[in-house]
Amino acid sequence: MTYSDAFRVEPGSEVQLEKIDAGFKPEGLKRKEGEREFGRKVGRLRELQHQLYAEDKHSLLIVLQGRDAAGKDGTIRHVFGPLNPQGCRVASFKVPSKLEVSHDFLWRCHIAAPARGQVGIFNRSHYEDVLVVRVHDLVPEATWSKRFDHINNFEALLHDKGTTVLKFYLHIDRDEQLERFGMRISDPARNWKISDADYSERPYWDQYTEAFEDALSRCSTENAPWFVIPANRKWFRNLAIASIVVDSMEKLNMKYPEPSVDMDEIRRKYHQAENAG
Ligand code: AMP
Ligand code: MG
Repeated sequence: MTYSDAFRVEPGSEVQLEKIDAGFKPEGLKRKEGEREFGRKVGRLRELQHQLYAEDKHSLLIVLQGRDAAGKDGTIRHVFGPLNPQGCRVASFKVPSKLEVSHDFLWRCHIAAPARGQVGIFNRSHYEDVLVVRVHDLVPEATWSKRFDHINNFEALLHDKGTTVLKFYLHIDRDEQLERFGMRISDPARNWKISDADYSERPYWDQYTEAFEDALSRCSTENAPWFVIPANRKWFRNLAIASIVVDSMEKLNMKYPEPSVDMDEIRRKYHQAENAG
């Protein structure tokens, strides 16, 4: 069974996060071996991105969601860092600005969606508007409850335009989160990452669980699936995500475009003449 099959949220199914082991890794798979396999996947990912760029026909949107310290930034660095920056853009969604909240919630995400030939990575996304917004009552339920349909329609629109949409929920458990906060406190290179909000959100753990479960259950579709990635082990998280992205891109059957000129003629007219001269 591939990681794509193992971690994909079946459309229409009910996700129950506490039943999913955040510390999962395949039996017998050792870290060293997993890291080697990850290296191979990233190599393939780079080739596929090059084809995506050259073919200029499809685009790829990666959505990363998860609790604080789940590993969204680390995933971007490790899995997508090796991509060619010319064909890749990261958009990080923070508390909306005055301008952003004066528009519909999809507006700021739509303009950040990848153009043809491009990879777009959302570090948080339009899903915040059914997560933090719901947990903290930032808008009435009558407003956020309509957003699941808006999201599904939006993602269907992107799909119809040739965008492969892959959404990853980075699944960590409570203990792992606390441990990661601890590392942010003790490691001077990570101090900047810790914020009051990290600790003040912890009491809302269960409300977030409910909000995530609804978003994952209601918005995993055939053309824009959610994947729940066991993310306590960073090396396994990286391997699983890279593998799933590679699987999906392979299915696009991309080809380098045909040359726009007659290769024989070019060879005869210029190349051989230059070599002779
Ligand atoms: P970080 O990703 O750690 O830089 O934090 C960004 C913060 O912005 C998080 O606390 C998010 O919950 C918050 N945020 C992102 N999108 C929204 C939104 N639509 N409404 C309210 N808060 C948001
Ligand atoms: Mg944060």
